Amino acid sequence: MSYVKDAFDRVKLRDPEQPEFHQAVWEVLETLEPVFDKHPEYKDANILERLTEPERVITFRVPWVDDNGAVQVNRGMRVEFNSAIGPYKGGLRFHPSVNLGIIKFLGFEQILKNALTTRPIGGGKGGSDFNPKGKSDLEVMRFCQSFMTELYRHIGANIDVPAGDIGVGGREIGYMFGQYKRLTGKWEGVLTGKGYGWGGSLIRPEATGYGQVYFLREMLASKGESIEGKACAISGSGNVAQYCAEKIISYGGKVITMSDSGGYIFDADGIDESKLAWIMDLKNNRRGRIKEYVKQYPGAVYHEGKRPWSEKCDIALPSATQNEIEEKGANSLVKNGCMAISEGANMPTSPEAYAILSKAGVLFGPAKAANAGGVAVSALEMSQNAAFDEWTSEKVDSKLDQIMTGIHKQCADAAEEYNQKGNLVVGANIAGFIKVAEAMLDQGVV
Ligand code: NDP
Repeated sequence: MSYVKDAFDRVKLRDPEQPEFHQAVWEVLETLEPVFDKHPEYKDANILERLTEPERVITFRVPWVDDNGAVQVNRGMRVEFNSAIGPYKGGLRFHPSVNLGIIKFLGFEQILKNALTTRPIGGGKGGSDFNPKGKSDLEVMRFCQSFMTELYRHIGANIDVPAGDIGVGGREIGYMFGQYKRLTGKWEGVLTGKGYGWGGSLIRPEATGYGQVYFLREMLASKGESIEGKACAISGSGNVAQYCAEKIISYGGKVITMSDSGGYIFDADGIDESKLAWIMDLKNNRRGRIKEYVKQYPGAVYHEGKRPWSEKCDIALPSATQNEIEEKGANSLVKNGCMAISEGANMPTSPEAYAILSKAGVLFGPAKAANAGGVAVSALEMSQNAAFDEWTSEKVDSKLDQIMTGIHKQCADAAEEYNQKGNLVVGANIAGFIKVAEAMLDQGVV
């Protein structure tokens, strides 16, 4: 049996009930065989078994009191996966679907993604099965304070630096930062995605979506194409989707769909700047549902319970959640002539869907490369906090652009070196893995 297959079987045996984690691990491991042929020293140091086992897993009870005075209990967790190249870094997700397998899949992806950013950050992820939807601001605050009352003892500016993810935006980061400060008496860059004016970086809210589009621009440029005039189907209407849409519009692309977990809206005229501003207000302030869009803009159509991949588009930008493009969606995209996909969400394309897209020659930007802009600017936020400094948005945006352009190049170069020219999935896995493996070798068996 091959070393890679053997290592994967051990992962499944150890935690059989974590399918998303298995999927994320296999998507990486299946591309690494040629790396072990070239670098037997990684096998000798058993890098794979060490890389797939988190350095530390913390789970804890999060008790809080709702507005009716009833005591609620959620589960909190943080997976400190790998610190070979820097402090653990990765978001917190608050969503009822959160379980250890999902947090481990996200944490594992984060290790390689963070390596690709070229910043000194290790991989981690955390969250809770708490559902912020429908909760009052005060309930969210009480939950966040209780969550941090346990988490604070495990994190720190040079230890582990969480950020946002699904269900965790500026509001939640603010409440958690306030509680960390109160408990420790320290003002330090322990969380990223903070508000501007109290340690947050300009462009951090925009970073994942903007970066996803910079990566797309580089992929298209490698084929002599551009975003201008292209019809773009975006899923989601949260943080990543909103700024992905904003950047697509600024490059002259036409955004034809956005969605939430209820369904998607299709606007044949395109979602322009002013319509997008309306969506941002709906989602960020009024906390409403995407279906309300069609009341405001009657030319658009709402499709309940569906995903947008059956719409004819040139480019697909999945920016909501994992496994949101499945076989059916992939077949429709191919049939309708979709030329490129840049993943904003983590692992949004199922393995079966990816096989279909790859066979059809669709340009494919994998999440760990294409959505690395968020964590890259989080690392820039850490630099600014460490130096008690504040950079202009132009400076941060231009660094983000450079980082994303560099990530595309790293992926393309690694793919070419391993005789898989143009395969950015293979390139991202190999480039990220080698950086982490080298650091682990240098640091001995720890
Ligand atoms: P938000 O919570 O801001 O938005 C999530 C969006 O996705 C919402 O529109 C939500 O709809 C929708 N969604 C969530 N779950 C589902 C589901 N099961 N089916 C359909 N739609 C769903 O999160 P983000 O925008 O921050 O995150 C989106 C994705 O991007 C995630 O995969 C995340 O891991 C990834 N990501 C985020 C980064 C960041 O910087 N924020 C960085 C890198 C990756 P509804 O409101 O109805 O739940």
